[in-house]
Amino acid sequence: GELQGQRSSEETIFVSVRLRPLNEKEIVRNGESDWECINKNTIVFKHSMPERSMFPAAYTFDRVFGCDCPTKEVYAEGAKEIALSVLNGINSTIFAYGQTSSGKTYTMSGITEFAMADIYDYVDRHQEREFVLKFSAMEIYNEHVRDLLSSDCTPLRLLDDPERGTVVERLIEETLRDKEHLEELLSICEAQRQIGETSLNETSSRSHQILRLTVESSSRDYSGAQNSSTLTASVNFVDLAGSERASQTVSAGARLKEGCHINRSLLTLGTVIRKLSKGRNGQHIPYRDSKLTRILQNSLGANGRTAIICTMSPASSHVEQSRNTLLFASCAK
Ligand code: ADP
Ligand code: MG
Repeated sequence: GELQGQRSSEETIFVSVRLRPLNEKEIVRNGESDWECINKNTIVFKHSMPERSMFPAAYTFDRVFGCDCPTKEVYAEGAKEIALSVLNGINSTIFAYGQTSSGKTYTMSGITEFAMADIYDYVDRHQEREFVLKFSAMEIYNEHVRDLLSSDCTPLRLLDDPERGTVVERLIEETLRDKEHLEELLSICEAQRQIGETSLNETSSRSHQILRLTVESSSRDYSGAQNSSTLTASVNFVDLAGSERASQTVSAGARLKEGCHINRSLLTLGTVIRKLSKGRNGQHIPYRDSKLTRILQNSLGANGRTAIICTMSPASSHVEQSRNTLLFASCAK
C-alpha cells in the first residue's frame, strides 16, 4: 500500500536492559546482586574492581529495568510503542538478547502476550477499518529454519521475492479467527520448541525463535478507493540464542570445553545492529550473511523499527557475560 513507505523519523534502535532477580541458588551462594539500576537510564556495577578498571562502572541506555520491575512495565516502556507501530503499517522487531538463564524467554513471552492483547484491543476499537491478522512462527537452529507450526522438521529454504524480499518457502501462515486461535497457535509453538529441546541437547540456548504477527488493514468505506488505504506490516518477537554463543572473548580452547559454538546468526545480527546504530551512510549492511538477518531484513534499520531488551543476570558468577551484554547494548544504541 501507499502508506507503507511512510514512517516516523525515529530510525534508531531503542535499547533497554533488564536485570532479573537473583534466583534461589544464587541467593544461597552469595546473596547479593552485583548490579543496581540507579535511575531510569543507568545501571552501575556496585563493587569496585581495580584490576578491571578498563571496564566502566556505569552504563546508560534508553531505559534500564531493575530486578523488581514487572514485565508489564518492561513492555510498556521498552517495547509497546515499537510493537504497535505495526498497526500503522510499519514493520517492527522486538529482540531479547542475553546469556542463557538471564531471562530472555521470560521477558519475551510476557511482552508477546501484552502486545498481542493490545493489538486485539485496538482492532476491537477501530470498527471503521477491517483487519486481517496472520501468524507464523519459526526457529533457526544451526542455520536451519524450522516451522514451529508444523511437526515436520525439514529445514525450510529462503527465497528472494522481488516484491516481498526474503520469504521463507512453505512457512505456514495462519489467518487468525480470534484471540483464542492465536493462543492455540502459541501453545503449539511452545510444544514444538520443547520437542526440539529433548531431541537436541540445549536447543533453546542455541536457537532463535521468531514469532511473527502480520496485520493487514483497510478502511471500510466502499467508495471503490479502498485499496489506496490498505496497510500491511509485521511485528516480529525474537527470542535469541544465548549470547554466550556470540562471545568472541573466550579462547578457542575454552569454547571447545564448554561446547560453545559461535552462532553465525547471532554474530551477524551483532554486526548488522552495530552498523545500523552508526547511521547508514550508504555503507553495506551484511543482512545476507545469516538466516536470521535475511529473514528480518525488512523489519530492521531503515525498513522498520527495532527494540532490543538486553537481559542480565545479577549474579557475580555471571559478571563476564553481563559485561559482554552491556557492551553489546552500548554498541546498539
Ligand atoms: P533464558 O531464556 O535467557 O535462558 P529464562 O527466561 O528461561 O532465561 O529465565 C531463567 C529463569 O529465571 C526462569 O526460571 C525464569 O522464570 C526466571 N526469570 C527470568 N527473569 C525473571 C524475572 N524478571 N523475574 C522473575 N523470574 C525471572
Ligand atoms: Mg530461553
